[in-house]
Amino acid sequence: MTIDARTALAEFIVPAGPAKRRTRQASVRWGSHVVTVGGDAPVRVQAMTNTDTVDVIGTAIQVKELAVAGSELVRITVNTPEAAQAVPHIREQLDRMGIAVPLIGDFHYNGHRLLTDHPACAEALSKYRINPGNVGKGDKHDKQFAQMVEVAAKYDKPVRIGVNWGSLDQELLTSMMDENAKLADPFEPQQIMYRAIINSAIESARRAEEIGLKREQIILSCKMSGVQDLVSVYRALAQRCDYALHLGLTEAGMGTKGTVASTAALAMLLQEGIGDTIRVSLTPQPGEARTQEVVVALEILQSLGLRAFNPSVTACPGCGRTTSTTFQELAKQIDDYLRAQMPVWKARYPGVEKMKVAVMGCIVNGPGESKHADIGISLPGTGEAPAAPVFIDGEKALTLRGAAIAEEFQTLVEDYIEKRFG
Ligand code: SF4
Repeated sequence: MTIDARTALAEFIVPAGPAKRRTRQASVRWGSHVVTVGGDAPVRVQAMTNTDTVDVIGTAIQVKELAVAGSELVRITVNTPEAAQAVPHIREQLDRMGIAVPLIGDFHYNGHRLLTDHPACAEALSKYRINPGNVGKGDKHDKQFAQMVEVAAKYDKPVRIGVNWGSLDQELLTSMMDENAKLADPFEPQQIMYRAIINSAIESARRAEEIGLKREQIILSCKMSGVQDLVSVYRALAQRCDYALHLGLTEAGMGTKGTVASTAALAMLLQEGIGDTIRVSLTPQPGEARTQEVVVALEILQSLGLRAFNPSVTACPGCGRTTSTTFQELAKQIDDYLRAQMPVWKARYPGVEKMKVAVMGCIVNGPGESKHADIGISLPGTGEAPAAPVFIDGEKALTLRGAAIAEEFQTLVEDYIEKRFG
């Protein structure tokens, strides 16, 4: 290629993939199991239980479910002396079940007392979450905050300083609003609120360092419930510090709304390299499993190409060219099957999580999309010959016919996995 031709092409070359922001790396450990957050670690997934922490067995079971679903860290609320007493027993149950996932204690109002009165709880937790808006008012604020940080330093535990706009330190906000009001040309109150949230996080982190925590032991979050608010605040926060950042849209809501709002907010920031660990705060719909928040978090990271957790199934939306539901059923069957196998396959077939399967509805895009997948099938559309070509590694391998196409394709997928990843 001539230099001129290369220069002409270079005009249209754009960088691929998300940016990478360098942060300090925190280590959250339980025994020999270490989950690194920040630095060059992959973006971590975390979740929170909604059981009563006093219910040791119920909580341990839910922690296990969240961990098996893919949550690498699990937070539990520690709100009473009874809950603090339950924590080491929950840890014991998990260890007995072979679940090494680190537990994070979520503290508000009385965390200073619970952590000092219950050393077994302080030790069994792998990380503490402190909300600087909820650690006490007036002169008690600094003292109680310091007490919690001292316990963290004593037991060598990392801390998340988690500001939430719903519980922002009102004294700080009021003083900043008053200062702003005195200006000849004051800023919008929203700008002051953003600044108060960021200041609360950064000032608390600096204070924690003065008390004895290492910078690497501090993770920050500034959660908001509005997508644009969250993006603005995290962009500014990321510019002002190099602490690892925990990202999440707080009170995202339920169902499609909560899923889409969380995805929109997190995707924008993750694409800019902002965010070292994520939590999707979905309100479960009646009867919905708590693990749904983990499923969504994994999908966000996998869709952005940041991590791979499950083989992906590419399926077309269907249209008037395929009036039967066969391909929808096959796509779902394959997707469900692959997900169900993953807990076992993860260990048995390393790399299988990166596999791509295509299930397409007709000849228009079917063969093309199937060739791009590791294994793909193009089902016959309306009026097409009743044959389904299967493509393996980009080449047409065989054609399936008859009523058992779904079962035969599933067997082909299993054989492919065994040969390639076994
Ligand atoms: S692949 Fe065929 S059935 Fe699927 S959306 Fe495209 S045209 Fe419609």
